[in-house]
Amino acid sequence: MVPVGDYIFLIIGIAVAALALVVGLVTTRTRSRGPEVSRRPSDPDVLAEPRVGEDAETPRDTPTRTIEDAELPEPAPGSPRGSAPTLERPESAASRLVRLRERLSRSQGPLGRGLLALLSRDVVDEDTWEEIEDTLITADVGVTATQELVARLRTRMKVEGKTSADAEDILREELVTLVDPSMDRSLAVDRRDGVPAVVLVVGVNGTGKTTTVGKLARVLVAEDKDVILGAADTFRAAATEQLSTWGERVGVPTVRGPEGGDPASVAFEAVRAGIEQEVDVVIVDTAGRLQNKAGLMDELGKVKRVVEKQAAVTEVLLVLDATTGQNGMTQARVFGEVVDVTGIVLTKLDGSAKGGIVVAVQRELGVPVKLVGLGEGADDLAPFDPETFVEALLGRGN
Ligand code: GDP
Repeated sequence: MVPVGDYIFLIIGIAVAALALVVGLVTTRTRSRGPEVSRRPSDPDVLAEPRVGEDAETPRDTPTRTIEDAELPEPAPGSPRGSAPTLERPESAASRLVRLRERLSRSQGPLGRGLLALLSRDVVDEDTWEEIEDTLITADVGVTATQELVARLRTRMKVEGKTSADAEDILREELVTLVDPSMDRSLAVDRRDGVPAVVLVVGVNGTGKTTTVGKLARVLVAEDKDVILGAADTFRAAATEQLSTWGERVGVPTVRGPEGGDPASVAFEAVRAGIEQEVDVVIVDTAGRLQNKAGLMDELGKVKRVVEKQAAVTEVLLVLDATTGQNGMTQARVFGEVVDVTGIVLTKLDGSAKGGIVVAVQRELGVPVKLVGLGEGADDLAPFDPETFVEALLGRGN
Protein backbone atom coordinates (compact mmCIF):
# COMPACT_ATOMS: atom_id res chain seq x y z
CA MET A 1 0.00 0.00 0.00
CA VAL A 2 1.28 3.45 -0.98
CA PRO A 3 0.39 6.11 1.62
CA VAL A 4 -1.97 8.95 0.45
CA GLY A 5 0.76 11.55 1.25
CA ASP A 6 3.05 9.89 -1.34
CA TYR A 7 0.32 10.32 -4.04
CA ILE A 8 0.12 14.03 -3.28
CA PHE A 9 3.91 14.42 -3.65
CA LEU A 10 3.81 12.48 -6.91
CA ILE A 11 1.01 14.71 -8.36
CA ILE A 12 2.80 17.91 -7.29
CA GLY A 13 6.03 16.62 -8.91
CA ILE A 14 4.31 15.88 -12.24
CA ALA A 15 2.60 19.30 -12.21
CA VAL A 16 5.92 21.13 -11.60
CA ALA A 17 7.63 19.17 -14.39
CA ALA A 18 4.80 19.95 -16.85
CA LEU A 19 4.92 23.66 -15.94
CA ALA A 20 8.69 23.78 -16.48
CA LEU A 21 8.27 22.12 -19.88
CA VAL A 22 5.61 24.63 -20.97
CA VAL A 23 7.68 27.64 -19.78
CA GLY A 24 10.72 26.27 -21.61
CA LEU A 25 8.75 25.85 -24.83
CA VAL A 26 7.33 29.36 -24.75
CA THR A 27 10.75 30.91 -24.07
CA THR A 28 12.43 29.02 -26.92
CA ARG A 29 9.73 29.96 -29.41
CA THR A 30 9.73 33.60 -28.36
CA ARG A 31 13.51 33.76 -28.93
CA SER A 32 13.34 32.06 -32.30
CA ARG A 33 10.74 34.61 -33.44
CA GLY A 34 13.07 37.51 -32.64
CA PRO A 35 13.76 40.26 -35.20
CA GLU A 36 15.73 39.33 -38.29
CA VAL A 37 18.42 41.74 -39.33
CA SER A 38 18.52 41.77 -43.09
CA ARG A 39 21.25 43.41 -45.16
CA ARG A 40 18.68 44.33 -47.75
CA PRO A 41 15.26 45.93 -47.27
CA SER A 42 12.42 43.42 -47.20
CA ASP A 43 10.11 45.41 -49.42
CA PRO A 44 11.75 45.72 -52.79
CA ASP A 45 9.42 48.39 -54.10
CA VAL A 46 8.89 52.08 -53.49
CA LEU A 47 11.92 52.72 -51.41
CA ALA A 48 12.50 56.37 -52.04
CA GLU A 49 12.49 56.65 -48.24
CA PRO A 50 15.14 54.62 -46.47
CA ARG A 51 14.22 52.17 -43.75
CA VAL A 52 15.94 51.87 -40.44
CA GLY A 53 16.57 48.15 -40.56
CA GLU A 54 14.18 45.28 -40.30
CA ASP A 55 14.13 45.12 -36.52
CA ALA A 56 12.38 48.46 -36.37
CA GLU A 57 9.35 46.79 -37.95
CA THR A 58 8.76 44.23 -35.21
CA PRO A 59 6.43 45.65 -32.55
CA ARG A 60 8.18 45.72 -29.21
CA ASP A 61 4.96 45.29 -27.23
CA THR A 62 4.03 41.90 -28.67
CA PRO A 63 1.61 40.32 -26.17
CA THR A 64 2.99 37.47 -24.09
CA ARG A 65 2.35 34.18 -25.85
CA THR A 66 0.00 31.63 -24.32
CA ILE A 67 0.36 27.89 -24.22
CA GLU A 68 -1.94 27.71 -27.26
CA ASP A 69 0.46 29.98 -29.14
CA ALA A 70 3.37 27.76 -28.23
CA GLU A 71 1.61 24.80 -29.77
CA LEU A 72 0.84 26.51 -33.10
CA PRO A 73 2.87 25.28 -36.08
CA GLU A 74 5.86 27.45 -36.93
CA PRO A 75 5.10 29.88 -39.82
CA ALA A 76 7.36 29.89 -42.86
CA PRO A 77 10.59 31.71 -42.12
CA GLY A 78 10.90 35.12 -43.79
CA SER A 79 10.41 38.80 -43.22
CA PRO A 80 8.39 40.17 -40.29
CA ARG A 81 5.39 39.92 -42.63
CA GLY A 82 6.31 36.30 -43.31
CA SER A 83 6.24 36.88 -47.08
CA ALA A 84 9.82 37.49 -48.20
CA PRO A 85 10.53 35.71 -51.47
CA THR A 86 13.32 33.15 -51.57
CA LEU A 87 16.29 34.99 -52.99
CA GLU A 88 18.15 33.54 -55.92
CA ARG A 89 21.91 33.28 -55.92
CA PRO A 90 23.09 34.67 -59.28
CA GLU A 91 25.77 32.81 -61.17
CA SER A 92 29.36 34.02 -60.78
CA ALA A 93 31.12 35.72 -63.69
CA ALA A 94 33.64 32.90 -64.08
CA SER A 95 31.02 30.20 -64.38
CA ARG A 96 28.76 32.15 -66.72
CA LEU A 97 31.69 32.83 -69.07
CA VAL A 98 32.39 29.13 -69.47
CA ARG A 99 28.73 28.37 -70.05
CA LEU A 100 28.10 31.23 -72.47
CA ARG A 101 31.26 30.67 -74.51
CA GLU A 102 29.56 27.64 -76.03
CA ARG A 103 26.55 29.72 -76.99
CA LEU A 104 28.77 32.38 -78.53
CA SER A 105 30.58 29.70 -80.47
CA ARG A 106 27.29 28.33 -81.77
CA SER A 107 26.11 31.69 -83.14
CA GLN A 108 29.43 33.11 -84.30
CA GLY A 109 31.23 29.91 -85.32
CA PRO A 110 29.99 29.90 -88.94
CA LEU A 111 31.58 33.32 -89.54
CA GLY A 112 35.01 32.39 -88.17
CA ARG A 113 35.03 28.93 -89.67
CA GLY A 114 33.96 30.38 -93.04
CA LEU A 115 36.88 32.80 -92.99
CA LEU A 116 39.29 30.09 -91.94
CA ALA A 117 38.16 27.75 -94.72
CA LEU A 118 38.76 30.49 -97.30
CA LEU A 119 42.20 31.38 -95.94
CA SER A 120 43.24 27.72 -95.77
CA ARG A 121 42.64 27.07 -99.46
CA ASP A 122 45.64 25.79 -101.39
CA VAL A 123 45.56 28.88 -103.53
CA VAL A 124 44.27 32.11 -102.02
CA ASP A 125 43.63 34.09 -105.21
CA GLU A 126 41.84 37.39 -105.88
CA ASP A 127 38.45 35.68 -105.96
CA THR A 128 39.14 34.20 -102.56
CA TRP A 129 40.08 37.59 -101.13
CA GLU A 130 36.87 38.97 -102.51
CA GLU A 131 34.93 36.19 -100.83
CA ILE A 132 36.71 36.97 -97.57
CA GLU A 133 35.71 40.61 -97.91
CA ASP A 134 32.10 39.69 -98.64
CA THR A 135 31.98 37.38 -95.63
CA LEU A 136 33.22 40.15 -93.33
CA ILE A 137 30.86 42.77 -94.73
CA THR A 138 27.90 40.40 -94.50
CA ALA A 139 28.78 39.88 -90.85
CA ASP A 140 28.41 43.65 -90.21
CA VAL A 141 32.11 44.31 -89.63
CA GLY A 142 31.83 47.49 -91.69
CA VAL A 143 33.60 48.49 -94.91
CA THR A 144 36.64 50.33 -93.55
CA ALA A 145 37.40 47.73 -90.89
CA THR A 146 37.00 44.97 -93.48
CA GLN A 147 39.43 46.60 -95.86
CA GLU A 148 41.97 47.12 -93.09
CA LEU A 149 41.70 43.53 -91.95
CA VAL A 150 41.99 42.13 -95.47
CA ALA A 151 45.07 44.27 -96.17
CA ARG A 152 46.79 42.96 -93.03
CA LEU A 153 45.82 39.38 -93.75
CA ARG A 154 47.14 39.66 -97.31
CA THR A 155 50.52 40.94 -96.15
CA ARG A 156 50.95 38.36 -93.43
CA MET A 157 49.67 35.42 -95.46
CA LYS A 158 52.19 36.20 -98.19
CA VAL A 159 55.09 35.98 -95.73
CA GLU A 160 53.93 33.61 -92.99
CA GLY A 161 50.96 31.67 -94.35
CA LYS A 162 52.51 28.39 -95.36
CA THR A 163 50.10 25.93 -93.72
CA SER A 164 46.47 25.98 -92.59
CA ALA A 165 47.72 26.14 -88.98
CA ASP A 166 49.62 29.34 -89.90
CA ALA A 167 46.44 30.71 -91.48
CA GLU A 168 44.48 30.04 -88.31
CA ASP A 169 47.10 31.73 -86.10
CA ILE A 170 47.26 34.77 -88.35
CA LEU A 171 43.47 35.06 -88.53
CA ARG A 172 43.14 34.71 -84.75
CA GLU A 173 45.74 37.39 -84.06
CA GLU A 174 44.35 39.81 -86.61
CA LEU A 175 40.78 39.37 -85.41
CA VAL A 176 41.83 40.03 -81.81
CA THR A 177 43.67 43.16 -82.96
CA LEU A 178 40.54 44.25 -84.84
CA VAL A 179 38.36 43.83 -81.74
CA ASP A 180 41.02 45.81 -79.83
CA PRO A 181 42.15 44.18 -76.59
CA SER A 182 43.66 47.47 -75.40
CA MET A 183 40.26 49.03 -74.63
CA ASP A 184 39.32 49.29 -70.96
CA ARG A 185 36.22 47.15 -70.56
CA SER A 186 35.87 47.38 -66.79
CA LEU A 187 32.65 48.81 -65.36
CA ALA A 188 32.82 51.84 -63.06
CA VAL A 189 30.64 50.34 -60.35
CA ASP A 190 32.50 51.10 -57.12
CA ARG A 191 31.47 53.55 -54.40
CA ARG A 192 33.75 56.54 -54.41
CA ASP A 193 34.08 59.40 -51.94
CA GLY A 194 31.15 58.08 -49.92
CA VAL A 195 28.66 58.02 -52.80
CA PRO A 196 27.43 55.14 -54.95
CA ALA A 197 28.42 54.62 -58.55
CA VAL A 198 25.56 55.55 -60.89
CA VAL A 199 24.96 53.62 -64.10
CA LEU A 200 22.52 55.01 -66.69
CA VAL A 201 21.27 52.41 -69.13
CA VAL A 202 20.05 53.90 -72.41
CA GLY A 203 18.79 52.50 -75.67
CA VAL A 204 15.76 52.07 -77.89
CA ASN A 205 12.78 50.07 -76.60
CA GLY A 206 12.91 46.44 -77.59
CA THR A 207 16.68 46.19 -77.62
CA GLY A 208 16.66 44.40 -74.25
CA LYS A 209 17.37 47.44 -72.10
CA THR A 210 15.21 46.57 -69.08
CA THR A 211 16.28 42.94 -69.22
CA THR A 212 19.89 44.10 -69.27
CA VAL A 213 19.39 46.27 -66.19
CA GLY A 214 17.98 43.22 -64.39
CA LYS A 215 20.80 40.97 -65.54
CA LEU A 216 23.42 43.56 -64.64
CA ALA A 217 21.99 43.79 -61.13
CA ARG A 218 22.53 40.04 -60.84
CA VAL A 219 26.12 40.32 -62.06
CA LEU A 220 26.76 42.91 -59.34
CA VAL A 221 24.92 40.99 -56.60
CA ALA A 222 27.08 37.97 -57.45
CA GLU A 223 30.05 40.23 -56.68
CA ASP A 224 28.49 41.04 -53.29
CA LYS A 225 27.58 44.58 -54.20
CA ASP A 226 24.57 46.40 -52.78
CA VAL A 227 22.43 47.65 -55.64
CA ILE A 228 19.35 49.84 -56.09
CA LEU A 229 17.40 50.05 -59.34
CA GLY A 230 15.66 53.14 -60.67
CA ALA A 231 12.69 52.44 -62.98
CA ALA A 232 12.91 55.66 -64.97
CA ASP A 233 11.43 54.09 -68.10
CA THR A 234 8.04 55.42 -67.08
CA PHE A 235 6.67 55.39 -70.61
CA ARG A 236 6.58 51.69 -71.38
CA ALA A 237 3.70 50.37 -69.28
CA ALA A 238 5.26 47.07 -68.22
CA ALA A 239 8.84 48.25 -67.75
CA THR A 240 8.50 49.20 -64.07
CA GLU A 241 6.84 45.92 -63.08
CA GLN A 242 9.34 43.99 -65.13
CA LEU A 243 12.26 45.71 -63.43
CA SER A 244 10.84 45.28 -59.92
CA THR A 245 10.47 41.56 -60.54
CA TRP A 246 14.09 41.28 -61.67
CA GLY A 247 15.16 43.10 -58.51
CA GLU A 248 12.96 41.10 -56.15
CA ARG A 249 14.48 37.85 -57.31
CA VAL A 250 17.87 38.86 -55.95
CA GLY A 251 16.74 41.15 -53.09
CA VAL A 252 17.49 44.39 -54.92
CA PRO A 253 15.02 47.24 -54.26
CA THR A 254 13.49 49.23 -57.11
CA VAL A 255 12.59 52.90 -56.89
CA ARG A 256 9.61 53.57 -59.08
CA GLY A 257 7.32 56.42 -60.01
CA PRO A 258 3.84 56.68 -61.48
CA GLU A 259 3.30 55.47 -65.05
CA GLY A 260 3.94 58.31 -67.46
CA GLY A 261 5.62 60.29 -64.67
CA ASP A 262 8.81 62.30 -64.94
CA PRO A 263 11.76 59.94 -65.56
CA ALA A 264 14.21 62.46 -64.13
CA SER A 265 12.42 62.55 -60.79
CA VAL A 266 12.50 58.75 -60.52
CA ALA A 267 16.22 58.81 -61.33
CA PHE A 268 16.73 61.52 -58.69
CA GLU A 269 14.86 59.51 -56.03
CA ALA A 270 16.75 56.34 -56.90
CA VAL A 271 20.09 58.05 -56.43
CA ARG A 272 18.88 59.72 -53.22
CA ALA A 273 17.81 56.32 -51.86
CA GLY A 274 21.15 54.87 -52.96
CA ILE A 275 23.06 57.55 -51.08
CA GLU A 276 20.93 57.21 -47.94
CA GLN A 277 21.13 53.44 -47.92
CA GLU A 278 24.85 53.53 -48.69
CA VAL A 279 24.65 51.09 -51.58
CA ASP A 280 27.49 50.50 -54.02
CA VAL A 281 25.64 51.02 -57.28
CA VAL A 282 22.45 52.67 -58.52
CA ILE A 283 21.37 51.43 -61.95
CA VAL A 284 18.84 53.62 -63.74
CA ASP A 285 16.72 52.24 -66.58
CA THR A 286 15.76 55.10 -68.90
CA ALA A 287 12.95 55.56 -71.41
CA GLY A 288 13.89 54.44 -74.91
CA ARG A 289 11.71 56.45 -77.22
CA LEU A 290 13.55 57.62 -80.25
CA GLN A 291 10.87 59.81 -81.79
CA ASN A 292 13.33 62.58 -82.49
CA LYS A 293 16.81 63.56 -81.47
CA ALA A 294 15.84 66.77 -79.73
CA GLY A 295 13.29 65.01 -77.51
CA LEU A 296 15.75 62.29 -76.62
CA MET A 297 18.45 64.82 -75.87
CA ASP A 298 16.10 66.80 -73.61
CA GLU A 299 15.03 63.71 -71.72
CA LEU A 300 18.40 62.06 -71.21
CA GLY A 301 20.06 65.41 -70.58
CA LYS A 302 17.57 66.15 -67.82
CA VAL A 303 17.98 62.72 -66.23
CA LYS A 304 21.74 63.15 -66.18
CA ARG A 305 21.58 66.69 -64.81
CA VAL A 306 19.31 65.86 -61.90
CA VAL A 307 21.30 62.74 -61.02
CA GLU A 308 24.50 64.75 -61.00
CA LYS A 309 23.12 67.11 -58.39
CA GLN A 310 23.81 64.25 -55.99
CA ALA A 311 26.38 61.90 -57.50
CA ALA A 312 28.48 61.56 -60.63
CA VAL A 313 27.19 59.33 -63.41
CA THR A 314 29.99 56.78 -63.62
CA GLU A 315 28.75 54.75 -66.60
CA VAL A 316 26.37 55.36 -69.49
CA LEU A 317 25.71 52.00 -71.08
CA LEU A 318 24.10 51.94 -74.52
CA VAL A 319 22.11 48.79 -75.21
CA LEU A 320 22.07 47.68 -78.84
CA ASP A 321 20.37 44.66 -80.37
CA ALA A 322 22.95 42.71 -82.39
CA THR A 323 20.28 41.40 -84.74
CA THR A 324 19.31 44.84 -86.05
CA GLY A 325 22.44 45.48 -88.15
CA GLN A 326 22.50 48.92 -89.75
CA ASN A 327 19.53 50.02 -87.65
CA GLY A 328 21.61 49.41 -84.56
CA MET A 329 24.42 51.48 -86.04
CA THR A 330 22.04 54.39 -86.63
CA GLN A 331 20.86 54.17 -83.02
CA ALA A 332 24.47 54.13 -81.84
CA ARG A 333 25.16 57.29 -83.82
CA VAL A 334 22.15 59.18 -82.42
CA PHE A 335 22.75 58.17 -78.79
CA GLY A 336 26.45 58.90 -79.19
CA GLU A 337 25.57 62.48 -80.13
CA VAL A 338 23.12 62.90 -77.27
CA VAL A 339 24.98 61.39 -74.29
CA ASP A 340 28.56 60.48 -73.46
CA VAL A 341 28.28 56.75 -73.86
CA THR A 342 31.01 54.95 -71.87
CA GLY A 343 30.23 51.38 -72.86
CA ILE A 344 28.09 49.27 -75.15
CA VAL A 345 25.96 46.28 -74.24
CA LEU A 346 25.33 44.11 -77.27
CA THR A 347 22.25 41.98 -76.69
CA LYS A 348 20.87 38.97 -78.56
CA LEU A 349 24.28 37.93 -79.86
CA ASP A 350 22.98 34.39 -79.40
CA GLY A 351 20.45 35.03 -82.17
CA SER A 352 22.74 36.67 -84.70
CA ALA A 353 25.61 35.32 -86.77
CA LYS A 354 26.72 38.89 -87.43
CA GLY A 355 29.22 39.32 -84.63
CA GLY A 356 31.09 41.85 -86.75
CA ILE A 357 28.85 44.53 -85.27
CA VAL A 358 31.15 44.45 -82.22
CA VAL A 359 33.89 45.95 -84.36
CA ALA A 360 31.63 48.35 -86.25
CA VAL A 361 29.96 49.84 -83.20
CA GLN A 362 33.19 50.26 -81.25
CA ARG A 363 34.63 52.18 -84.17
CA GLU A 364 31.52 54.28 -84.60
CA LEU A 365 31.41 55.41 -80.97
CA GLY A 366 35.04 54.99 -79.95
CA VAL A 367 33.93 53.16 -76.79
CA PRO A 368 34.23 49.46 -75.97
CA VAL A 369 31.62 46.75 -75.94
CA LYS A 370 31.63 45.92 -72.23
CA LEU A 371 28.89 43.31 -71.95
CA VAL A 372 27.14 40.89 -74.26
CA GLY A 373 23.67 39.36 -73.94
CA LEU A 374 23.61 35.73 -74.97
CA GLY A 375 20.09 34.58 -74.18
CA GLU A 376 16.87 35.25 -72.34
CA GLY A 377 17.98 33.49 -69.16
CA ALA A 378 18.57 35.55 -66.02
CA ASP A 379 22.32 34.98 -66.04
CA ASP A 380 22.83 35.18 -69.80
CA LEU A 381 24.85 38.39 -69.69
CA ALA A 382 28.64 38.19 -69.77
CA PRO A 383 31.56 40.59 -69.73
CA PHE A 384 32.93 40.99 -73.23
CA ASP A 385 36.39 39.60 -73.72
CA PRO A 386 38.12 39.94 -77.14
CA GLU A 387 40.14 36.71 -76.88
CA THR A 388 37.15 34.62 -75.81
CA PHE A 389 35.07 36.19 -78.56
CA VAL A 390 37.63 35.37 -81.24
CA GLU A 391 38.08 31.82 -79.92
CA ALA A 392 34.32 31.42 -80.23
CA LEU A 393 34.43 32.82 -83.77
CA LEU A 394 36.95 30.17 -84.66
CA GLY A 395 34.76 27.51 -83.14
CA ARG A 396 36.95 26.95 -80.10
CA GLY A 397 34.21 27.59 -77.54
CA ASN A 398 33.50 24.00 -76.59
P1 GDP B 1 13.42 46.97 -73.66
O1 GDP B 1 12.15 47.43 -74.30
O2 GDP B 1 14.61 47.48 -74.41
O3 GDP B 1 13.48 47.26 -72.21
O4 GDP B 1 13.47 45.40 -73.90
P2 GDP B 1 13.26 44.19 -72.90
O5 GDP B 1 14.28 44.20 -71.83
O6 GDP B 1 11.84 44.12 -72.49
O7 GDP B 1 13.63 42.95 -73.87
C1 GDP B 1 12.96 42.71 -75.07
C2 GDP B 1 13.07 41.22 -75.40
O8 GDP B 1 14.41 40.88 -75.72
C3 GDP B 1 12.68 40.31 -74.26
O9 GDP B 1 11.91 39.26 -74.76
C4 GDP B 1 14.01 39.78 -73.75
O10 GDP B 1 13.91 38.51 -73.15
C5 GDP B 1 14.80 39.72 -75.02
N1 GDP B 1 16.26 39.74 -74.78
C6 GDP B 1 16.96 40.65 -74.08
N2 GDP B 1 18.28 40.36 -74.11
C7 GDP B 1 18.41 39.21 -74.85
C8 GDP B 1 19.54 38.40 -75.27
O11 GDP B 1 20.70 38.66 -74.98
N3 GDP B 1 19.25 37.30 -76.03
C9 GDP B 1 17.97 36.99 -76.41
N4 GDP B 1 17.80 35.92 -77.16
N5 GDP B 1 16.91 37.73 -76.04
C10 GDP B 1 17.11 38.83 -75.27
